[in-house]
Amino acid sequence: MSVILDLTRIVQAAADAESPSAQVSVIVNSIQQYLGLDVCSLYLADERGDMALLASHGLNPDAVGGVRIPAGKGLVGLVAQSRHPINIADAARHPAFYGIRETQEELYRSFFGVPIVRSGVVIGVLVAQSREARELSAEESAVLVTLGSQLALVVATDSIWQEINQNITPILSGIKGAPGIGIGRVTLCDNVDLYSVTDGKCEDSAATLVEWQSLVETVLADVKREQAGLSELLSQEVAAVFDAYRLLLSDPSLVNGVAQLIRDGHHLPGALKKVIQQHADVFLAMDDPYLRARHEDIRHLGNKLYSAWRGLRASGTEDIPNTQTVLVGTQVSVSDIARVPTEFLAGIVCFQGSNLSHTAVLANALGVPAVMGVGEIRGIHNNDELVVDGNTARVIVRPTGSVLAEYEQLLKAEQQLKGELKGLRDLPAQTVDGTNICLYANSGLLADISPGLQAGAEGLGLYRTEIPFMVSDTFPSEEEQLAVYRQILEAYGTKPVHMRVLDIGGDKPLPYFPIREENPALGWRGIRFCLDNSSLFMSQIRAMLRASEGRENLRIMLPMVSNTSEILQFHALLNDAMQQLAEEGVHVRRPPVGIMVEVPSAISQLRSWREQLDFISIGSNDLSQYLLALDRNNPRVAASYDHVHPAVLHEIARVIEIARSIDLPVSVCGEMSSDPIAVVLLLGLGVRTLSMSAAQLPKIKWLLRRMSIESACSMVEEALLLNDARQIRKLVADRLYVLGAGEILW
Ligand code: PEP
Ligand code: MG
Repeated sequence: MSVILDLTRIVQAAADAESPSAQVSVIVNSIQQYLGLDVCSLYLADERGDMALLASHGLNPDAVGGVRIPAGKGLVGLVAQSRHPINIADAARHPAFYGIRETQEELYRSFFGVPIVRSGVVIGVLVAQSREARELSAEESAVLVTLGSQLALVVATDSIWQEINQNITPILSGIKGAPGIGIGRVTLCDNVDLYSVTDGKCEDSAATLVEWQSLVETVLADVKREQAGLSELLSQEVAAVFDAYRLLLSDPSLVNGVAQLIRDGHHLPGALKKVIQQHADVFLAMDDPYLRARHEDIRHLGNKLYSAWRGLRASGTEDIPNTQTVLVGTQVSVSDIARVPTEFLAGIVCFQGSNLSHTAVLANALGVPAVMGVGEIRGIHNNDELVVDGNTARVIVRPTGSVLAEYEQLLKAEQQLKGELKGLRDLPAQTVDGTNICLYANSGLLADISPGLQAGAEGLGLYRTEIPFMVSDTFPSEEEQLAVYRQILEAYGTKPVHMRVLDIGGDKPLPYFPIREENPALGWRGIRFCLDNSSLFMSQIRAMLRASEGRENLRIMLPMVSNTSEILQFHALLNDAMQQLAEEGVHVRRPPVGIMVEVPSAISQLRSWREQLDFISIGSNDLSQYLLALDRNNPRVAASYDHVHPAVLHEIARVIEIARSIDLPVSVCGEMSSDPIAVVLLLGLGVRTLSMSAAQLPKIKWLLRRMSIESACSMVEEALLLNDARQIRKLVADRLYVLGAGEILW
């Protein structure tokens, strides 16, 4: 009876506390006193499910308020996820243990955690610890479990978070722009906004036309200077960012469009705004996310011209930062980035913008962490300290000492990993038990070919030919395609290049060939479109074959195949093309032909297609989308999309088994190949060839060199018994930590 009274008193005292912070202190202090244990702490879940240490009797007081344990991590995460109390005598020996330096938890051996659950949702975790390595007695456990359930009703979570958000580190979430952790001082990019200009009359159109001409030349020179400044560091891919600006500045529809409006009586900034807006709006209306993101580039260029017109053009020498700097602005431009020496560029934060913008492309290429689309950060000043966490898309403004210390530790570990990755280029992708894995790069632009080679790719596993078609104004001619394909085949020497025939439609529309359909994902796309447009298709096949003259590294891959007739029709076209070329005196080797396995119906037909195919490649992006009936670009349902969904894994297992039984080479070229957790599972399923973006290749190689096929097989065996993607991810993540490869998941 007295125990119940004591507990009621504790809960009542918590309910009566005068402020949210007093409430959490009352809870931990009275429980600690009552049980006489060394530590009692209270963690509350934030909106992302991370657990913030909000009160503690016993742990380092400096850590209180600052420490957050990422959702699902550590013993606290385990309690929250399992919704069960955990009673452990020696916490540090538990595989889920997640030591945080600043709490000084290592002084305490035992751990008892109980979830605080309100309306089915875990709102926090109550933790008791002692120096002694012992499990809590049944009586002590019962007290904590009872308190946990009663406190759920009285803890004023909303007011606590309100108070905290005023006092501790604001954490903002955005979109991942470029991975990595950066810590530095804010430099605000003073973005002018051309869109805020109001229209005005032009008094002297002749003089304004001269002014416009010289403005274009000046900005063109600026772009060239900025490009030259970064050129040594930049891959061709990034040089293309500057080339795009230069092309736009020479584009007659832009230059003449502004000139015409000036002649019509508009003043220069008004004319510029109108033309830039028209150009940007065309891209903004496109369905394809890559092309839609190009509207940001056009706006950037407009702002650049406008600031030069206002005399704000940077001379390129003043105010060059010489400390670790984070560039922050509505849209940090490529020119802003070019102004900071890369050794001082710690991060980039954009209030707006997407992960496909040129700012993000450049950040990725320079290896600078970036977070996009965080929304306006109020009250931020030049020189404020900032953490940019590009791995989780978070920005932490003015971090407290303990948060900063945590990130400094992560940064150090990341730099160590980066150092190790650099040395991997020429080492084989070999597992610890001696199996060689073939790593290919995915590519789509001429400009992103060299990163694949630089990263040590053994070939191109997927060349998406639609991208040159998408960035063009019309269907490129056979000659234009020939020039592109030849450069690619030559760049890879004897290494295989898997060129996929045009895969437009669905999520990849062509701007000059709009296809309006009720249900484009199930419509006229991939091989279906190609076969119905056979003259267009023929010129692509001919261009590929001609590019392969004198070489043996071309492979042709067909997207979205679901019917036998599609493969047969392609072979007939290939025969025709070979014959035509032979008659023209061009003799080429018949290239190996394969298909993407991405429409689920292909799987059960693979055996019957054996004679027509030399290889297959699993397109896990579309395969997952069609198996789960989930469009990952649709924000309403995207959260449920996961390519490690058990159904996807079972289907991939089936593909591998069939391919093995008919001796058909198989690779994976969707996003799964870049996702460390998926890679482990694919390895366990028997995949030995992976194709991924060049940027991810060193990381995946690093992982493979720490894995054994045996452990991958045992993980996938267990994973296939689970029926939830989150559980599967957790299983593999926990094992990777135990194997000492957990850093790969940061
Ligand atoms: C896929 O579907 O997995 C794939 C690689 O093709 P894309 O992403 O180009 O549709
Ligand atoms: Mg696909």
